[in-house]
Amino acid sequence: MTRDTTAAARPGRGDPLLLTPGPLTTSAGVKAAMTRDLGSRDAGFIALTRRLRTRLLALAGDPPGMTCVPLAGSGTFAVEAMIDTLVPRQGKLLVLANGAYGERMRRIATRLARECTAGSWPEHEPVQPARVDALLRDDPAVTHVAVVHCETTSGLLNPLPEIAEVVRRHDRRLLVDAMSAFGALPLDAGSLHLEALAASSNKCLQGVPGAAFCVVREQALEQAAGNASSLSLDLAEQWRAIENNGQWRFTPPVQVLLALDQALDELEAEGGPPARLARYADNCRTLVDGMRALGFETLLPAALQAPIIVTFLSPSDPAWGFAAFYEGLRRRGFAIYPGKLTEVDSFRIGCIGDLGRDEMLAVVEAVREVMAELGIKNPSAAADRSRALT
Ligand SMILES: *Cc1c(COP(=O)(O)O)cnc(C)c1O
Repeated sequence: MTRDTTAAARPGRGDPLLLTPGPLTTSAGVKAAMTRDLGSRDAGFIALTRRLRTRLLALAGDPPGMTCVPLAGSGTFAVEAMIDTLVPRQGKLLVLANGAYGERMRRIATRLARECTAGSWPEHEPVQPARVDALLRDDPAVTHVAVVHCETTSGLLNPLPEIAEVVRRHDRRLLVDAMSAFGALPLDAGSLHLEALAASSNKCLQGVPGAAFCVVREQALEQAAGNASSLSLDLAEQWRAIENNGQWRFTPPVQVLLALDQALDELEAEGGPPARLARYADNCRTLVDGMRALGFETLLPAALQAPIIVTFLSPSDPAWGFAAFYEGLRRRGFAIYPGKLTEVDSFRIGCIGDLGRDEMLAVVEAVREVMAELGIKNPSAAADRSRALT
């Protein structure tokens, strides 16, 4: 099935197309699914929760012995719940960080008073499994390891299968922030022997924001009593409540969940994660080819680039300014994202959401117009890169 790219599917009321890592542009069907009221104790809602948990677990590869625990909130809520529930108070977390989201997990663990150590890599380099191996060999106190699948900071894809293999060999437990990859990039939680992963409704699943979830080993939840320092983020209690009577402990985001159910229908109709990945890869290629033809440079080589969001280096041309560039694109109906790198000046353009090649070609054309408007002749960032990425 092809996507509905008619005007009806486009955002309304002059809203821009969102070329961001979420919230992102959703289909007309996903938006329409929210025009209902549903009681949280209603049999229909209980069935919806059951169906969503089953469908999300299937997207994780139907891993044996694992379950899906949903939670209200943005993706960070699920990451925090995963760490708080699964890392025992006497445990120790090794965070593998090569961007802001890895760094965020380190901050979460520290805030939760869990002992934490970090392996760090530059933002334009993947986590290296050989160094993870050495870190685990040198620190037997580490019980859990946390890593980001696709680092949305840069758009980089970390080598999850290789990292998982090292963690398994050392008999430690792996927690994955799969936020910006889940539903598009291949991930089989069972064969990777994950302890848990966290993801949300509003990235590659193309739902609206407000629901997050973890896919977790049931045995880990059974053993988690007393771990969580937070009441509302205790995944084990949330799991028990939902298993017992199908109800969430606190007000569930019912409309968000209705939208997610519709979004999962649309994912299936598109051909599942492989077809979605193929569309995102085409979006990414179209964007990168177009931007390179204009003279822009990407932070990452193709081999490290996930087709989720692309970081472009800011031009060294003195006429460049992100705010004016952003405004020019916004006036043309596109919202992009500022850079999140700590070392180089950059900006990001997303490839995910209800967008296809036409939209990517249109954003490249809009970039060309804005560059002319701002008087930027050479979008190369050569000066910048030699300074920062040596
Ligand atoms: C989006 C994202 C999150 C969660 O961010 P929220 O703003 O809380 O939804 C976490 N990790 C990664 C890698 C992400 O891309």
